Amino acid sequence: MIEFYHISKQYVNDQFALNDVSISIEKGEFVFLTGASGAGKTTLLKLIFKEEHPTRGQILIDSLNINLIPRKQLYELRRSIGIVFQDFKLLDNRTVYENVAIPLIVRGEKKSVIDKKVMNSLSLVGLTHRKNYIPTHISGGEQQRVAIARAIVGNPKIIIADEPTGNLDTDLSIEIFKLFERINANGITILI
Ligand code: ADP
Repeated sequence: MIEFYHISKQYVNDQFALNDVSISIEKGEFVFLTGASGAGKTTLLKLIFKEEHPTRGQILIDSLNINLIPRKQLYELRRSIGIVFQDFKLLDNRTVYENVAIPLIVRGEKKSVIDKKVMNSLSLVGLTHRKNYIPTHISGGEQQRVAIARAIVGNPKIIIADEPTGNLDTDLSIEIFKLFERINANGITILI
């Protein structure tokens, strides 16, 4: 599902953020990537959804060499990946429902389809009762669950989460990881 072949990444300076990294993650795996601050974890995640480009090496996602894909396929690649950030990145001037709907609105889905998918997603994360709230009026754990609902609403094959519990206490972190386990049980590959 995710294959790195001899990936190196250098930013503008000469230092290697990643130096000759090869990994293979199978479909349906639940993977934790660990390492000291500055080890290159975020860089590795960004290479998967092509926010950054490798200096050397090849990356295959679902057998597709993402170095070579044209713009149209890049769009499809990004649609197949749900991303969750440590700081949630929710829009504070939109309701919970609207935040989760955004990926579907961008794709031009019909209103009835959007409604069904958003309500399914909110139900999976246990937040249908918060759909009309704005993010600043719900707890941190709930905000992260909204971000997860937004990440899964478009039926991605892969979920990438960069320190998703970094802003949450231990109990809430356990709750979030249980949620990732439930999502993973549906066959979605997860890289944290
Ligand atoms: P981690 O997520 O493990 O903390 P990062 O991938 O964020 O590691 O960073 C790896 C290295 O790459 C660090 O030395 C960092 O300073 C450097 N780095 C990350 N992003 C950039 C960037 N946009 N420009 C230059 N250097 C960067």
